[in-house]
Amino acid sequence: MTDARKVPTNDLPAYQPAAGGIAARARAAAAPAPTYLSNLNPEQREAVETLDGPVLVLAGAGTGKTKVLTSRIAHILSTGRARPGEILSVTFTNKAAREMKHRLGIMLGQAVEGMPWLGTFHSIGGRILRSHAELVQLKSNFTVLDTDDQIRLLKQLLSAENIDDKRWPARMLAGLIDGWKNRGLTPAQVPSGEAAVFGNGKGGKLYKDYQERLKILNAADFGDLLLECIRLFREQPDVLKSYQARFKYILVDEYQDTNVAQYLWLRLLSQNSGGVVTSPRVRGEVGLQSNPVEGDSPPAALAEAAPHPDPLPASGEREQRNICCVGDDDQSIYGWRGAEVDNILRFEHDFPGAKVIRLERNYRSTGHILAAASHLIAHNEGRLGKTLRTEDEDGEKVTVTGAWDSEEEARGIGEEIEQLQREGHKLNDIAILVRASFQMREFEDRFVTLGLPYRVIGGPRFYERAEIRDALAYLRVINSPADDLAFERIVNVPKRGLGDATVQMLHDHARRRRIPLSEAARQVIETDEMKPKARGSLRDLMTSFERWRKQSEVVPHTELAEVVLDESGYTEMWQKDRSADAAGRLENLKELVRSMEEFENLQGFLEHISLVMDREGAADEDAVSVMTLHSAKGLEFDNVFLPGWEEGLFPHQRALDEQGRAGLEEERRLAHVGITRARKRAKLYFATNRRIHGTWSTTIPSRFLDELPAANVEITESKGGSGWGGAGGYGSSRFDNLEAFGSSYSTPGWQRAQQQRGRSGGGGFNESQSPFSSFGSSASRKRPMVIEGELVAKSTGIESDFSLDDRVFHQKFGYGRVTKIDGNKLTIAFDKAGEKKVVDSFVERA
Ligand code: ATP
Ligand code: MG
Repeated sequence: MTDARKVPTNDLPAYQPAAGGIAARARAAAAPAPTYLSNLNPEQREAVETLDGPVLVLAGAGTGKTKVLTSRIAHILSTGRARPGEILSVTFTNKAAREMKHRLGIMLGQAVEGMPWLGTFHSIGGRILRSHAELVQLKSNFTVLDTDDQIRLLKQLLSAENIDDKRWPARMLAGLIDGWKNRGLTPAQVPSGEAAVFGNGKGGKLYKDYQERLKILNAADFGDLLLECIRLFREQPDVLKSYQARFKYILVDEYQDTNVAQYLWLRLLSQNSGGVVTSPRVRGEVGLQSNPVEGDSPPAALAEAAPHPDPLPASGEREQRNICCVGDDDQSIYGWRGAEVDNILRFEHDFPGAKVIRLERNYRSTGHILAAASHLIAHNEGRLGKTLRTEDEDGEKVTVTGAWDSEEEARGIGEEIEQLQREGHKLNDIAILVRASFQMREFEDRFVTLGLPYRVIGGPRFYERAEIRDALAYLRVINSPADDLAFERIVNVPKRGLGDATVQMLHDHARRRRIPLSEAARQVIETDEMKPKARGSLRDLMTSFERWRKQSEVVPHTELAEVVLDESGYTEMWQKDRSADAAGRLENLKELVRSMEEFENLQGFLEHISLVMDREGAADEDAVSVMTLHSAKGLEFDNVFLPGWEEGLFPHQRALDEQGRAGLEEERRLAHVGITRARKRAKLYFATNRRIHGTWSTTIPSRFLDELPAANVEITESKGGSGWGGAGGYGSSRFDNLEAFGSSYSTPGWQRAQQQRGRSGGGGFNESQSPFSSFGSSASRKRPMVIEGELVAKSTGIESDFSLDDRVFHQKFGYGRVTKIDGNKLTIAFDKAGEKKVVDSFVERA
């Protein structure tokens, strides 16, 4: 009991049975098993009822691991073992936490009150931190910085250290710091060799400065929500003890994807006082890596497997806590972000006497789906291996469909979805799971055309992504110079020395003159309002806009977009960015350009975008779910569409290039996660061609298709239109690689694919033509410009209110006399600053 109650001496309160007391337990045992127990299989039930001591449930997809956790909470609560506030339950996403609460409500037949400690590692860490903020030099109302704020702050630190942020980008430092935080390393703990890799040896100092600045700003970044919590626990044993006492039961879902920081945090909480959790020990040098996966993912960890924290010192007296972790080594998909599948493998070592329970019956998928997924994952070497069976029917075979290109793929899937809808399926039971976020674009566009409601889960919609909004902003300004929002968005993106002060000045002028910002900019650069450097920079930008606008009349809009992204330095900004998500953003930009091909001109394209953006479905609407495979973990749908199973995209080329076999195995686990999301139908697609910079390139079907078992797979014709891509047109030439077709080759299909790739100009993607590698260097892609880029100063048609010889005052230059008037541009002889050109809205009559 954590709350000691005062008992009045002369007035005894009514007897309250102690939670978890013998009487309560005996009473629970005497009652018939509640439904939440009786509908479990014996192994699940054992996992639920083994409440004392550590328990690990190590089992495959769809075997009811999450169900076990939820039932376990229900059991703890209904037997009175603990109150809601005494159970710490960690889920992988906030959505999963909400889902768990909902299910608990159903199991217990009543709304679950409280469960304040059911959430993600970060949300719970943040909550603990707020209660003790002063102890980590913060105030309880501290702000959690978003990535943009974080980057801005790091840029300031870089400039204070005179470090060239072109050579050492702030985003790269952000990625490094995040990697360190994932490994539970404070500035003092980062191995010096590793810290030295950034900023000519200043990486460690920058990390330290950054942490200090955060304190001054009363702010924390995402990683701090755990790291500072760990520091709190280590430095304040009393605080740690109070939480150890509070949390009678600890439950963790998706344990295979915990990183070192999460592991340390859990271990601190799950040991009784006396246990000392030591700092991670570092094995050898660690190199830099970028995130081998797609777009909106969190920053990368470091290449070499993070070192494992030292085990606790042996202590005979240490009572083991009631911790229950569930996970599946075959679903570990966050290695690139620092997750340590090792955590699950060493559970028994960390918690001696732990009960390990394996579940073998899959309740989710039909026979064919389960067999296909199991056969695929068996190609991985580094795995524990497990048996999975289903008592479900075989159901429909997993289908594999080849489409001509991604457009036909989207069209085909769109038609299949409409067909399912006609048959009475709900859209809520349908999901599209993509490997990389850029793939979503084709589907979103298609669904808007079809009027099919959809929602993007776990990230923004394609056209809402920051890099897409930036690129669109450039195009919008070209299309409509009066688009102030767009102009303001990109005037200093990439950074060109036109900061807040410049924008404010432009706003002031624009407001007074009732003109658009870009017009204000055009006027101001003709004057001395701005410092020469900023003025030069703004003049360059305005010159570029004039040039692009003229070009837009003669070159195709897709080409224009490429030119603009190139010449504005926007593409280059992301090329130089070595942070985790930069490569995904470049992919998205390329997809944006590709998507423009479908429209006649820029205007038409921009109108389409505003239509797409306008369509915000209600949360409870029946809608198709679109998400990345990473976001789909733990979820299930009746019908799952898996597009883009092509070499280079899935497995993703970057994962292979940067991580070799380990990368390939993680990709295969991702494929396995994808297929095992399906209850009734798993539908795999690949496009046989992709357009890259307007030219077609042939793809090779994913090696994962080769690895599917023939008996459980059916090759189907694309419903997407041309009919070319289906089995008929494809058959022998490609699918003889598939095990599904009983390949007689001794070389596995993907190896042949690789050989082919090695020698090919046309077979697959080599680096320069892969649509999944970054944009080619801007130098190589620069095309000769045919249009003269002179900024023509047009008369604004505005007459100034001032007259010659007027005595005026200017904020910056002081008093002076008007010597010349040209529209609203004044030449003024200032008493101190000499002769200057200024715009009239900046001067007042003296
Ligand atoms: P994943 O590895 O994908 O996270 P999981 O092991 O957590 O899967 P759950 O999501 O808990 O599996 O369960 C999969 C499905 O099987 C759910 O729909 C769940 O309700 C159902 N299920 C699990 N156990 C049983 C059971 N004993 N009886 C009936 N249905 C069950
Ligand atoms: Mg689960």
